[in-house]
Amino acid sequence: MKIIVVGAGITGLTAALALRERGHRVEVVAADLGGLPVAMVNPVRGKRGSVVAEAGLALPLARRLYSRYVPLHRGVWRPVAGELREKWRRKLEGSPVACEWREGGVFLPGAFWLEARRLRAAMLAGLPLRRARVVAWRERELLLAGGRRLSADLVVWAGGAAGAVHTGLGGRFSPGSQLLVGEYFASAASSGVFAAGNVVGGSYLPHRNHYAPHTTRYSEVVWILDRARALLGYQPRPLGVWSGVRWRLDGAYLHELPGGFALGGFGSTAYLLAPLYARRLADLLDS
Ligand SMILES: Cc1cc2nc3c(=O)[nH]c(=O)nc-3n(C[C@H](O)[C@H](O)[C@H](O)COP(=O)(O)OP(=O)(O)OC[C@H]3O[C@@H](n4cnc5c(N)ncnc54)[C@H](O)[C@@H]3O)c2cc1C
Repeated sequence: MKIIVVGAGITGLTAALALRERGHRVEVVAADLGGLPVAMVNPVRGKRGSVVAEAGLALPLARRLYSRYVPLHRGVWRPVAGELREKWRRKLEGSPVACEWREGGVFLPGAFWLEARRLRAAMLAGLPLRRARVVAWRERELLLAGGRRLSADLVVWAGGAAGAVHTGLGGRFSPGSQLLVGEYFASAASSGVFAAGNVVGGSYLPHRNHYAPHTTRYSEVVWILDRARALLGYQPRPLGVWSGVRWRLDGAYLHELPGGFALGGFGSTAYLLAPLYARRLADLLDS
């Protein structure tokens, strides 16, 4: 089958590779190749230590796939306040996520961080890529900026937050930033913000019901640096910034639409869940 995958973020790339592995002819169409500099792949989320529902399936799959392309930096440390420890313990004990209690928090030996730009570049190498912006998607046909049309047997839309409008799926859009810093955190730590590699990142800005491009504000930099100081015990030196928007669909990430499928809306768990959902899509097309 000839399949066009729109999007060269982690969702589009995992889908394109999974579909190509099953023998489909795949072309990736993407407006741009920028994106998240450093990704945490951490199945334990938020202040309450909630474990992502499909972590037991998704984490080993993500580890296996990504380790073919880049080094994985294993282990994430998460401080947990004394009064919350019992709650965290209960949640983690019944879950498939391995953990060790140490240094006033929990260490997750199976979670990891990776250099996301390097990963995406390595995954993209060898995939046919067309750099173009899709302005309309109608069934099996795409209209590109400039007037050209593309068609395929199936379209997989993996356009992330910026492309979500073409899916009609709604969702929530949360802006946030990663600061590129002078320090290097070989082992990741996370609480309010996360520190991994040469990045500290996080967000507190309210979500919206539509996508709008985000530009980092000064107050956001101050907020991230304050949180980083609380986490690390010192303030890292900011050197640059990346701004982005998360798209959240809360649990339903694969949708059949006329002419194809929409994949995405993973929020902050895209790097954890994308390989699992790419495989689900490939299985669905096989069946
Ligand atoms: C501050 C911050 C920190 C984050 N940290 C993490 C983290 O640690 N771990 C994690 O898993 N996630 C994290 N996220 C979320 C993560 O960035 C996204 O969930 C992830 O990038 C989604 O991947 P995607 O492939 O679905 O979309 P994207 O990465 O947004 O890629 C979309 C692709 O589609 C293309 N596209 C869109 N519209 C069109 C169009 N009309 N025509 C052609 N191409 C189009 C784009 O050019 C791009 O190639 C973070 C987000 C923010 C804001």
